[in-house]
Amino acid sequence: AELHYRVGGALSALRGRSSVVKAVDGVSFDIHRGESVGLLGESGCGKSSIGRLLMKLEDATGGEIVFAGEPISGLRGAALKCYRAKAQLIFQNPFDAVNPRFTIRATLAEPLENAGIPAGEREARIIAALELVRLPQPAQFLDRYPHQLSGGQLQRVVMARALILQPDFVVADEPVSMLDVSVRAGVLNVFRDVRDRLGLTAIYISHDLALVRYVCERTIVMYLGRIMEDGPTEDIVHEPLHPYAKALVAAVPVPHPDQSHDPLPIGRGAPDPRNPPSGCVFRDRCPRAFDRCASEVPQLRQIGTRKVACHLF
Ligand code: SF4
Ligand code: MG
Repeated sequence: AELHYRVGGALSALRGRSSVVKAVDGVSFDIHRGESVGLLGESGCGKSSIGRLLMKLEDATGGEIVFAGEPISGLRGAALKCYRAKAQLIFQNPFDAVNPRFTIRATLAEPLENAGIPAGEREARIIAALELVRLPQPAQFLDRYPHQLSGGQLQRVVMARALILQPDFVVADEPVSMLDVSVRAGVLNVFRDVRDRLGLTAIYISHDLALVRYVCERTIVMYLGRIMEDGPTEDIVHEPLHPYAKALVAAVPVPHPDQSHDPLPIGRGAPDPRNPPSGCVFRDRCPRAFDRCASEVPQLRQIGTRKVACHLF
């Protein structure tokens, strides 16, 4: 049995009270069980929206997300609760992800309680989850509050909470970008180890190619709500095909997680996502653009090991 997520058609997200932003347009991908996929792109490219839509934290106004053969838009009640336990999101800022008035014990007990785990079993599950994310001497943290932990410690607690109900898949949205550079690799190592040990399907959302490369065997490069290239991470790093992917790789020749690569080189002054260019959304920044790029939207095509959306291919 494989997991399939197909985000097809124009998947739009409701933002605020009234505005509808076409967050991702014509994005379609399948993720297989146990796969680790990086969604790489600058802010505003729609990658976080995909994460939130996959978690059903936002409802899509179009398109479809299918989990294990079942469109998630139709999930209600117990089925939705079950999906929510299987699908977990790890947020960017661990301090925003927890209730500051809850102790670490209470933070981790909450999902267990919601899932109907008897009170007598919870403490052992909490300790086991904290050991899984390699928080040293976990018992000493149970009565502490979030502000008494470092960012790196709290992100491990947040990971433990996401994993405590043994999910099938995890979406991590820039999980280390708020952390000190010196602790990032440690948190990423825990993430990789746990993923491998539990056989998790993971989606890792980031603007940082170095981090995606460290965590994911496959990368989906996005620009303005569209997939530009999708394929094995090492193939993209060593020989990017799409002009946008080429620019990303050129900016970070030897990606390594100990270095922080802030913004993408051509990320500034990107066109307004509400009013994208006609044809190829990358065309006003593409050094290779030609006539057809203005008139025709390039479709994703299989090129060897990957898929590329560019008229050059
Ligand atoms: Fe550049 Fe045209 Fe390819 Fe878009 S389709 S990336 S504008 S060459
Ligand atoms: Mg984001």
